[in-house]
Amino acid sequence: EAFRLTGTAALITGASSGIGAATARRLASQGAAVALVARRTGRLEALAGDITRLGGHALVVTADVADEDQVRRAVERTVERFGRLDIAVANAGVMLLGPLDGADTAEWRRMIELNTLGTMYTARAAVPHLRAAAGTGPRHVADLVLMSSTAGRQVRETNGVYSAGKHAVGAFGEALRRELTAEHIRTALLEPGAVDTELPWHNRPEVQEAMRERFARMRRLHADDVARTVEYIVTRPRHVAVNELLVRPTEQQ
Ligand code: NDP
Repeated sequence: EAFRLTGTAALITGASSGIGAATARRLASQGAAVALVARRTGRLEALAGDITRLGGHALVVTADVADEDQVRRAVERTVERFGRLDIAVANAGVMLLGPLDGADTAEWRRMIELNTLGTMYTARAAVPHLRAAAGTGPRHVADLVLMSSTAGRQVRETNGVYSAGKHAVGAFGEALRRELTAEHIRTALLEPGAVDTELPWHNRPEVQEAMRERFARMRRLHADDVARTVEYIVTRPRHVAVNELLVRPTEQQ
């Protein structure tokens, strides 16, 4: 069944590449108007062009999700433009790996400020609008999708801070779920395994090398494999809430 999101508006953070870009395409293909949020404006504009050519509606919002004011303004601009916000996908993230001993603590701050606090800011800014959307409009339900990771459940050597930040997203999301579900705001935690995106390639060269070896032993997920799970979560009937979804490549242990 096509166009299950007609009349809705969705905001996706980290929409300039990888999972976020694929998710924006998927939600737009179901008829949602999409707000594309990230720092690289050129990439967002190219994606918005694709979506528009296919008959969709897209808004480019350049913002640093680690900055609370910028997140709040991004949400406000989305609601000004589309009149509503039915779906928020808090996806922007970085993954900087390495042993804790001797670590560069600037990398810790980047991860916690974006992956954890940025996700919290996104939820904080979106919820009043999600509440309004759940009360009116085509679906009478709203969705908040939080991007965690297998690292939000499984700790490995060299991913201590990334993993801690994603565990925190899980705890935050469960509290929000309990607070909001009676209002028909569904909170979903999505935990992908290894996905073929730009994410690993922001690491130091020696970490990249280790990742290349690990990936050589498995066929990773495509960004669109994860985008389809977001599409699934937000297109369930009003009485069905997917609270948590863990999706690994078949070959990942
Ligand atoms: P990418 O690196 O391809 O995408 C990350 C996105 O986040 C980009 O759009 C980037 O845009 C955006 N971003 C980074 N920093 C900021 C910032 N300060 N403000 C706003 N946006 C920012 O990686 P993925 O698509 O893989 O990652 C998306 C999410 O999925 C992350 O939360 C990641 O932790 C999670 N994940 C990924 C997995 C994987 O194996 N790839 C596995 C499990 C979870 P820009 O640079 O333009 O700002």
